[in-house]
Amino acid sequence: MKSATNLPANLRGQLIVSCQALDRSPFRNPESAARFALSAVEGGAAGIRANGPEDILAIHKAVEVPIVGIWKAKQDDGKILITPSFGAAQKLVEAGAGLVAVDCTARGQRYGALDRLRRIKQELGVPVLADIATVEEAIQAAQAGADAVLSTMRGYTPETQHVRVFEPSFIAELVLAVDVPVIAEGRIQTPAEVRAALEAGAYAVIVGTAITRPELITRMFVSAFDSWHRLNDPKRTFIGIDAGATNTKSGLVTSLGELLSHSVSSTPWNEGRKALLQHLEQCVSTCREEARARGVEPEAIGLATAGWVDPNSGEVVYATENLPGWTGANPASYLREAFGLPVAVENDANALAVAEKHFGAAKNVTDFVCITLGTGVGGGCYIADRLNRGRHFFANALGHIPVVPEGAPCTCGKSGCLEQYANASALMRYAARGNFTCCEQIIAAANTGDPTAQCAVKTLAKYLAIGSASIVNPLDPEMLILAGGLAQNNPLLVSALTEELANRVTMWPQRHLQVQASTLGYWAGVLGAAAVASIGVVEGYSVTGASSQSLEKAATDSKPSMENPTLTPVGRDQA
Ligand SMILES: [Zn+2]
Repeated sequence: MKSATNLPANLRGQLIVSCQALDRSPFRNPESAARFALSAVEGGAAGIRANGPEDILAIHKAVEVPIVGIWKAKQDDGKILITPSFGAAQKLVEAGAGLVAVDCTARGQRYGALDRLRRIKQELGVPVLADIATVEEAIQAAQAGADAVLSTMRGYTPETQHVRVFEPSFIAELVLAVDVPVIAEGRIQTPAEVRAALEAGAYAVIVGTAITRPELITRMFVSAFDSWHRLNDPKRTFIGIDAGATNTKSGLVTSLGELLSHSVSSTPWNEGRKALLQHLEQCVSTCREEARARGVEPEAIGLATAGWVDPNSGEVVYATENLPGWTGANPASYLREAFGLPVAVENDANALAVAEKHFGAAKNVTDFVCITLGTGVGGGCYIADRLNRGRHFFANALGHIPVVPEGAPCTCGKSGCLEQYANASALMRYAARGNFTCCEQIIAAANTGDPTAQCAVKTLAKYLAIGSASIVNPLDPEMLILAGGLAQNNPLLVSALTEELANRVTMWPQRHLQVQASTLGYWAGVLGAAAVASIGVVEGYSVTGASSQSLEKAATDSKPSMENPTLTPVGRDQA
């Protein structure tokens, strides 16, 4: 915050509420503007921004806080300009505006904004605020004598129209660039964004739409219904592909998690990128044929794959040496091009957690960990109802939690990782005395009381407990779900793990952690992949789609959460 300023001191570090209504709004009259202003002041606003002398007069009578006056008027280019003439500013001040804001963007400057700014200051004696969209415009306005710059026009000029959200980083840039106070305004929709603006150095913050547009606030809640109904519309179907370490499972899945068709084939991991992509294409083709035969039209493709994935681009960020050529591959763009459908890609262990969240045990759980036990060991975590991906998409690498110092070498290049002590080969090793040919046999034998098999399952449970204790202790999940082949029909694993965890996790009785096996079965990964596609289409994230227009619409129309409220107004009427 800058120290020397002509602004009213009581605006520093405070909220200014912009009280404006659209022409067609039932609130588009001076009494309503005054009532909104009264409510805003009642709620703690230290200033009001308002449009036109009639509204300002009514507001000035109703409240005592400073009023930032603007006058929106259409110009000869057919677009609105904020306070386009000296005469307009004069009427605003006469009506009670203690400050005047002027559009000082490049366009505004073409209409003489900087000269007008100087004249208003000089002749009317009020602080003049410059509504700008870029750092350059802010510098020009400050040099012309603006008493503050406002980020109001960011996102509403041709040069900045790509900006769709409030950017605290832009505020920080302005603060560095100009010596006058910077007031944050434009697309600020949450208290968290207000805090971010202050953190970035804003002198004050202006919020409008999110407070004074009941129709948009209502729409935000209505959109939650819309997206819920879409997510639960049984007529919507998706193609889910789960490219695992050994097999690729694929199927046609409804929004409700019903598997309409399924198939399995072996994954040609060692044949390189091209062969893998063609293999996936073949899997999708098979699903599409199934869909045609059933008369359904899949809406999107979801792919769960080994390796770490950037869900925004659909690119495999990193895959181990076991998957040659997979690092850097982009199965999303490949499949999108081949089929013309939106494609969402997710790490396979994450996709299993998504499946549990949408169709399984964790439907009503906000914090849980899903551990997959098979050829490898993987995991997916939900923290505060969000899939945790980490900054570089490497989160949840539960298989590589060290459990034995200087232990067995791991595929990741380190040693002593949980995976080496809790995967299928480990179970075979622990039961070596029993002459079993596969893990299913060991588990079945453990269920009938075979001591060698039971001992093997318990040994695996012990290592799993050492590894998972280091997730449960810091994350404090509500539920630990065991998925994958080794968890199937294996109640001893669940009970032995619970017992071992009780000895290794602090505050165990108070945590009420539920340990349980997944009930989604063999096709869980396919369900997860389909769920990823479904969420992507409805919420508009993690999907790179051919029909990006409709997705973008979904993104702005139907964001279901309060974190991403749909308050983005059309055009520049927010100013
Ligand atoms: Zn490892």
